[in-house]
Amino acid sequence: MIIVMQAGAAPQDLDRVVSRVEQLRLRPHVIVGTERTVVAVVGDERDATGAGFETLPGVASVLPILAPYKVASREVQAETTRVKAGPLEVGGSRIGVIAGPCSVESAEQIVGTARAVKAAGATGLRGGAFKPRTSPYSFQGMKEKGLELLAEAREATGLAVVTEVVAPEDVPLVARYADVLQVGARNMQNYRLLEAVGRTQTPVLLKRGPAATVEELLLAAEYILDAGNLQVMLCERGIRTFETHTRFTLPLATVPWLHARTHLPVVVDPSHGTGHANLVESMAAASVAAGADGLIIEVHPDPKCASSDGAQTLDFAAFGRMMDVCRRVAEAVGRSLG
Ligand code: PEP
Ligand code: MN
Repeated sequence: MIIVMQAGAAPQDLDRVVSRVEQLRLRPHVIVGTERTVVAVVGDERDATGAGFETLPGVASVLPILAPYKVASREVQAETTRVKAGPLEVGGSRIGVIAGPCSVESAEQIVGTARAVKAAGATGLRGGAFKPRTSPYSFQGMKEKGLELLAEAREATGLAVVTEVVAPEDVPLVARYADVLQVGARNMQNYRLLEAVGRTQTPVLLKRGPAATVEELLLAAEYILDAGNLQVMLCERGIRTFETHTRFTLPLATVPWLHARTHLPVVVDPSHGTGHANLVESMAAASVAAGADGLIIEVHPDPKCASSDGAQTLDFAAFGRMMDVCRRVAEAVGRSLG
């Protein structure tokens, strides 16, 4: 349920509501909006029946949350959540752009890419140090050495580092280096991992599983929010269908659908979504036109030599062209890029 506080409610009124919720062994999530403060109450709501929240001082109304995801729902917060990590901002009028290689390979590669994508207007640097690979024989990433190189690239450019964490026990290590923790598509329903990133205060980029519905994506996000981390971005990265002309099928209707139901910002990944470098610019532009709050794009100094995902990776010149097109589309829809 949502307990809506009156506009002029005193801090003690809010404290009283929160303690009452806790007494009932439910969890209160206080959401301070620009217009009103609400307490989203989660847990087994049968325990709250007859609790009489309506009669407590400072309470304006008590409403049920209709959606199965609670804290993620637009019903509890009308304004889009702004996720901030250094210069990267996602969820406001600026569209955040995260760019970089699929995998960190060397200092030269990651620092060089960071400088190039920053010059073109990116505010986040991506790069996998722990790689979830389909085959156990494929390159698994540079692990901690890769994290150190990402930190070096941040030092050189100031870009926010976005990197994947694949296991709950790695969260403390990766969070020491990352500005944003990426939970990959293959791990979208790894509930222990979601809880572990939820216990940090590091922003999270949660990618949609290739076989997950958008409602399942929102329920996965709910695990992170419920554990206490409210800085969550959702990422549409394509789903598996009968189509073979692209690596995955990139459904952009996800963007306005999610915007109608959640306050969490939505990022699109046209690199994994298409699997082909020559389709990335068009689908990035289409994502911006559809209202995406952010883009995540694979970029490498020499894509044909990349140790993973080279076929879908842009070189610096192609990334610059993509940014020019996306900047014009962003302006056309009343936003700015970077
Ligand atoms: C990646 O971002 O390189 C990646 C592995 O993406 P996904 O989890 O979407 O497959
Ligand atoms: Mn990749």
